[in-house]
Amino acid sequence: MSKIKVAELFYSIQGEGRYMGVPSVFLRTFGCNFKCAGFGMPRGRLSEEANAVDPVKYTRYDELPLVSTGCDSYASWDPRFKDLSPMLTSDAIVERIMEILPHGKWKDEHLVITGGEPLLGWQRSYEDLLNHPRMQKLKEITFETNGTQELSKEFKQYLLDWTLNPKFGRRGYNALTFSVSAKLPASGEQWSDAIRPEVVCDYEKIGHTYLKLVVATEEDVKDALKAIEEYKSAGFKGSIYLMPVGGVESVYALNNRNVALLAMKHGLRYSDRLQVPLFKNEWGT
Ligand code: SF4
Repeated sequence: MSKIKVAELFYSIQGEGRYMGVPSVFLRTFGCNFKCAGFGMPRGRLSEEANAVDPVKYTRYDELPLVSTGCDSYASWDPRFKDLSPMLTSDAIVERIMEILPHGKWKDEHLVITGGEPLLGWQRSYEDLLNHPRMQKLKEITFETNGTQELSKEFKQYLLDWTLNPKFGRRGYNALTFSVSAKLPASGEQWSDAIRPEVVCDYEKIGHTYLKLVVATEEDVKDALKAIEEYKSAGFKGSIYLMPVGGVESVYALNNRNVALLAMKHGLRYSDRLQVPLFKNEWGT
């Protein structure tokens, strides 16, 4: 049976993107190909905030301090915290999902597979999880990805089959979404590593795919517009959201209105981060 290293598994309201407001189970896998230490920092500087967190002091993931700069889910990929993320079998994950769903089974909730970067090494494990008998009523899945990981041929075919209506053989019966948070230079990552239009256009062939670009300043928006050009030139047709930087309320509240205005100015969609004002972005929200 397949196993997945699980950083967090919780039930909450989706706070971002297309499914904002939808009750959702979040499966946060361990591991990421980026660090995104530039978020919330002046250009060219990297955050040291998470580096200052001493892993020895913590025995539970949800006790870890939140950070206001860098990646707000640092413990989902930083190897210093790997022991807080257990390796769980598909059965154990499904059992936990049934415990946290309000009716003990799937109804109108959606599954968010997030990270870290959920499309890194776990692609071959999701089939086992989604084929579990108690996962058959699940109708909507979103992969929250940074848009850099190619899908294996086998996984692509599996996901395509998952969207099929078994009765009528029609695709789109189950809703598959790729929420692509492509990392702009404000993240501290290199453009050539982070902006991969050919990868994202491939997601678009099998599921509803949109871009969610995190910005704070006009300079970030310039980068966003340049990236959008690259995606569109490669054939990307999906929606594009601007989302304010800010994993903590003090940072988010400084720029959410401004980002909404910038989105309006450029005719782009605005995505909030509802988990910040609603739940202070605590672990498990
Ligand atoms: S891609 Fe996402 S999870 Fe990975 S380091 Fe960046 S913000 Fe964190």
